Amino acid sequence: MIACDVLVLGGGIAGCTAALRAAELGADVILAAKDALGDSNTSWAQGGIVGLPPAAFGDSPELLAADIEAAGAGLCRPEAVQLLAEQGPKLCRDLLWKQLGVPFDLGEDGGIAPTAEAAHSARRIYHAKDATGLAIQDTLNQAVKAHPRIRLLEGRTLVDLLTTPHHGRDPRGVYDPIHVWGAYLLDGASRKVELARAKRTVLATGGLGYLYLHTSNPPGATGDGLAAAYRATARIVNCEYIQFHPTTLYVPHKPRTLLTEALRGEGAHLVNRKGERFMEKYAPDQMELAPGMW
Ligand SMILES: Cc1cc2nc3c(=O)[nH]c(=O)nc-3n(C[C@H](O)[C@H](O)[C@H](O)COP(=O)(O)OP(=O)(O)OC[C@H]3O[C@@H](n4cnc5c(N)ncnc54)[C@H](O)[C@@H]3O)c2cc1C
Repeated sequence: MIACDVLVLGGGIAGCTAALRAAELGADVILAAKDALGDSNTSWAQGGIVGLPPAAFGDSPELLAADIEAAGAGLCRPEAVQLLAEQGPKLCRDLLWKQLGVPFDLGEDGGIAPTAEAAHSARRIYHAKDATGLAIQDTLNQAVKAHPRIRLLEGRTLVDLLTTPHHGRDPRGVYDPIHVWGAYLLDGASRKVELARAKRTVLATGGLGYLYLHTSNPPGATGDGLAAAYRATARIVNCEYIQFHPTTLYVPHKPRTLLTEALRGEGAHLVNRKGERFMEKYAPDQMELAPGMW
């Protein structure tokens, strides 16, 4: 058995930033990832990330919140939109750029040079060429590996969350509120399951795109974390909203590679197998730049 203050499951942008924050606050952290650190959706993200633009660009949390609401067709959770709009861009600039040093593209004045992207009404997207996610993941990997209070366990797959009363001995425990005490991890090398106990457990295992035949996600995106959370009685909502990239490179028997969304930004058309454009049926105003709620 291994033990720590905070067990972080997943090594993408969510897991790495959570691990770094907890370690900065003085916690002993274990970060466990199914594959090598960096085998994540985060590494595969090509486009940019919403950051805080210079004041002259005329952006505001209210404007960003309105864009998110519009892209989410009014179905987003208002509290989550508010939190993201108020804190996300600042964290992107202060944590990812200033503190950790992600090599975002800079303008001639040495400051961030944000660009625009579909569904955004202001220039607020930070880019690192067309491999922004990889630049972020590489920077996070270095910070995680260098931190003295983070123990990195690669090749460890979450099998199940350790919960009481589910894993308790007293049958009357079912009446108690559920609590997570860590997780069972499968060590890919030894093929043994080990118990990691923790005062706090952070589930950051990403999405489930790889359950589908056609996906731009990496093979590790099989939704194991969602399933474990469900078994631990978490309520799972919105799983019907899966992002599919409409433009990937198809090579038989190979994983799909995203053909950059900037192609459509620059005027590329989506056509069906007969070569006919079809977006007019679904999003006549935005056509190929529709954000994806079809
Ligand atoms: C091709 C592509 C392009 C994208 N482009 C953009 C973009 O331009 N802008 C943007 O904002 N977003 C983009 N995204 C989305 C973005 O990449 C994701 O929303 C984000 O990276 C999710 O981060 P995460 O940390 O939650 O998950 P991930 O980065 O997927 O990390 C999940 C981690 O959990 C681990 N894991 C999974 N299962 C287990 C398990 N059972 N046990 C232990 N560890 C496990 C994985 O190994 C990985 O380390 C894109 C995604 C893809 C695939």
